[in-house]
Order: sequence, then structure tokens, then C-alpha cells
Amino acid sequence: MKDQAVVVFTDLDATLLGLDDYSFEKARTGLDLCRSLQIPVIAVTSKTLDETKLWIKRIGLDQRFIFENGGGIHLENGKIIDLGVDYSVLRQVMLKLSSTFPVRGFGDMKTEEIAERTGLSLEEAKIAALRRFSEPFVCQETDFEKLENVVGIHGLQIVRGGRFYHLQASGQSKGNAVAYLLKRFKADFGRVFSIALGDSPNDFSMLSKADSPWLVRQPGQEQIIPEINNLKITAKIGPEGWSEAVLTTLNKR
Ligand SMILES: [Mg+2]
Repeated sequence: MKDQAVVVFTDLDATLLGLDDYSFEKARTGLDLCRSLQIPVIAVTSKTLDETKLWIKRIGLDQRFIFENGGGIHLENGKIIDLGVDYSVLRQVMLKLSSTFPVRGFGDMKTEEIAERTGLSLEEAKIAALRRFSEPFVCQETDFEKLENVVGIHGLQIVRGGRFYHLQASGQSKGNAVAYLLKRFKADFGRVFSIALGDSPNDFSMLSKADSPWLVRQPGQEQIIPEINNLKITAKIGPEGWSEAVLTTLNKR
């Protein structure tokens, strides 16, 4: 494996960032190792373009990243690859849904409410609301199967993230966007060894595309564990588990 290029794809919330404090301090050892080996760490997140830009700068991640659950890919030259359905369409559908189902999207919430629900500052919440390809929403108890059917009729799907459900295009996933970038990496480097890290169902499509998929443990006990070939689960939680996974995988190589 020594002659292969290595690439890391990672979810942010509750994976590389702490669930409540958004801190990546405990992932420092893993991040430093990647940096010293010149391994690109690529954010794959439900966050918006502008939010993700802030985070990759803060953490020092690769210029390439995947935002809004695979709706868009930001390339190293600033170009955006568009893989999702336009936000205005998602809002029209959300509006229709809200007359029958107890759903409320970011577009229905004031900045203060988004800040409260996410634990972000008002400034950050404003940027989180600048959506392009996905609408995060909350949903009270309802016939979820019926909701998913109606959403499907519109060519859309619901994906479950750590904090919210997300309304987005039916073919849109972190996994499809990761596959797109992997193809590019392989064209550039030949053989590529990929590591992927995530904690929630919206990460599973991405985990299934990687050579070394890691489910990062969440605090609490209700985490859904997918059936994915070769999947490993960290012993430690969140960013600490992130370092554990990266160190374990890279030290084995
Ligand atoms: Mg997450």
C-alpha cells in the first residue's frame, strides 16, 4: 500500500468536531499526522458552502470539499460542481409539505431559532441558512413513511443527519459526491487508498465508498450501525475517535 496515494474523507459535526462544542482539539494528533504525510483531508458535510469554507480554514483542511450532503463539490480552483436540486424548488416542496405534515425547515425559522437549535452563534447561523441544495428541517411525530412517499413523488428524498432531517434531490448523497472526487484522484494518482469517517445515516453512502470506512462513536447509545463491508467502529467518541481511526489506519500501512 506504500505506493498508493491516501485520501481522507470526513464528516464534520460529531465526527471531526465535537457534537456540543464544535471543537476539533481532540482530533489534533490525527490531523497533524495527515499534514506531515501530506494526506488531503476532505470535508464531506451537510453544512453550506460558506460555512464549510470557514471550517476548512479554521481546521486547515483541503481546499476541495463536499457541502450540503453531496449537493455541491468545491474544487481546489474555486469551481463548484453542482449535483443537487436548486434551493428554491426545495422550499416550494417544503411549503406544500408543511400544510399536511408537522415539518419546519431552516427557511421557516428566524436566525435566532437556527442558532438555538444548532448551538451556533447568530453570525454562523446566518451563514448556515444560505442554502443551495438542501433544506434541513425538524419534524414532530408523524407518518414518516407517508411523508417520504410524498417527497419521492417530487423527485426528492429525506436524509437523516445528526441534528436535522434534510430534504434534497433523490440521487444526492455524500457517497455519490465522494465517488466523483475519487474518480478524479484516481485519474491524477493512479492507485488511491481512501479512508472515510462519519457518525450518522447521511454518512453511510460515503462510508460504503471507502477502502477503510470508520463509524465514529457518538455520545449516548442510540447510534445506528450500518452493514458496510470492512466497517470499523471507534472506541472513543467524536474527534477523539477521529484521531484513533486515522492513527490506527495509517500506522498499519
Ligand atoms: Mg455528523
